[in-house]
Amino acid sequence: MNPSRRPLIAGNWKMFHGGRKGVELAQECATFAGGLPGVDIVVAPPFTALAAVASVLEGSPVGLAAQNVYPKDEGAFTGEISPPMLKECGCSWVIVGHSERREHFGERNTFVAEKVAATLQAGLLPIVCVGESLAQRQANETLLIVKQQVDAFLDILAQSKAAVAIAYEPVWAIGTGKVAGPAEAEEVHAAIRTWLSTRDEGLAARTRILYGGSVKPDNAAALLACPNVDGALVGGASLDAGSFSAIARAA
Ligand code: PGA
Repeated sequence: MNPSRRPLIAGNWKMFHGGRKGVELAQECATFAGGLPGVDIVVAPPFTALAAVASVLEGSPVGLAAQNVYPKDEGAFTGEISPPMLKECGCSWVIVGHSERREHFGERNTFVAEKVAATLQAGLLPIVCVGESLAQRQANETLLIVKQQVDAFLDILAQSKAAVAIAYEPVWAIGTGKVAGPAEAEEVHAAIRTWLSTRDEGLAARTRILYGGSVKPDNAAALLACPNVDGALVGGASLDAGSFSAIARAA
């Protein structure tokens, strides 16, 4: 981490805790976050829990994120949720381009970029996810693939002055228990920072680059000690307030 950027620890609940359990977990997060004033904590519950979690988090330091968004303000898009709707619901963040969306729902770089633009337009902050598959890593294509993903939305970020986040999440590390080592993570994070700074120094300085993929209390400190790792996007371990708070304390 670099002291000029506040660490950001975000919990991606995925398709878990959509009701009462989500409210309970949010209450626990609000409690522990009060004791960690130097860390930004964000939770991303499923859509069905957003409104209830928003009222629990009101007045707490915990930020609310959605896990996905559709890049239109309104219209005949059955089943979709717009950026203004998320904003009205109390969200300040949106996870965009998660690898599970890219893999299972066919989201491509251009569509991810549209989502980034719509999110910023509505005054929400994107956490844009990038990362290579195992086959791509084995073929030595990691930096090539991640650069293509970043290039797709780089101009949009550069045109905004917002303090966005990018999450580097190697697909092979998500939900698998296989975590990138600090050196593997730092190599990609440093490359992303360089691409940002080539486009816009200010963008590179303010963007928080999170690591995601099997972050747990026992590996968080080593990852967060890397100079270009500014936080974590946590899946499985964010479903337990004890583990999530331990990760936040490591920041
Ligand atoms: P994981 O998920 O921590 O369960 O690996 C991370 C993510 O998908 O954001």
